[in-house]
Amino acid sequence: MARRQQTRGKCVYCGREMTRGGLARHLSTCAGRQAAVEAADQKPGKEQTMYHLQVQDAWGGTYWLHLEMQGTATLEELDHYLRAIWLECCGHLSSFSIGPYRYTQLFDDGLGMDDDRAMNVQVRRLFRPGMAIPYEYDFGTTSELMIQVVDKREGRPTTPHPIALMARNDPPEIVCMECGQPAAYLCVECMYETDESGALCETHAGEHPHDNYGEPMPVVNSPRIGMCGYEGPAEPPY
Ligand SMILES: [Zn+2]
Ligand SMILES: [Zn+2]
Ligand SMILES: [Zn+2]
Ligand SMILES: [Zn+2]
Repeated sequence: MARRQQTRGKCVYCGREMTRGGLARHLSTCAGRQAAVEAADQKPGKEQTMYHLQVQDAWGGTYWLHLEMQGTATLEELDHYLRAIWLECCGHLSSFSIGPYRYTQLFDDGLGMDDDRAMNVQVRRLFRPGMAIPYEYDFGTTSELMIQVVDKREGRPTTPHPIALMARNDPPEIVCMECGQPAAYLCVECMYETDESGALCETHAGEHPHDNYGEPMPVVNSPRIGMCGYEGPAEPPY
């Protein structure tokens, strides 16, 4: 599987397609986004600090999101969002690492360490532009993400939800290891135990002999692809 592909994705405000880094710069000047922000600021409601977050898989950077998050929303809401769009397989624990502290469900269970904190904290109390926040989902077969606080603005949210999706990567091109056609499945056994990518088209998935790790898994647009039986749907929650 091509893990280091420079994937591109569309700006939801103007439709322009760019790389992750291109969008990080573009979103601060996008005319479409500025119009959406101005329209939101005309509406009644309380102003607050809004954060531009860039989230990516920690090692490859093939999978990424640009999000705008309300400062009054909590780490718990960000955790729910990341689970819905990318991660949730069987209700594993997760954590954000900020400074000396780890924000995790372990705190609520009373099983945490001294430096563990609860996730129900408003992000405006923690986030500062320039911060890089490691996030982990599942402390066994771990998915590691990096969350960067790119920027902030004072104003009103453009959607009623705590988090708005501003862009995400288009699915990376993954081709069948047998025939080079677009792959729809992944053999986890091939991926972990051979030099092959494990990617398979519909036809070759049907004929594939391996089942030590179960049937070939569907290809989904998520960094958790091929991990712990993750099957998607890899869709945003709202
Ligand atoms: Zn744009
Ligand atoms: Zn799982
Ligand atoms: Zn296989
Ligand atoms: Zn094939």
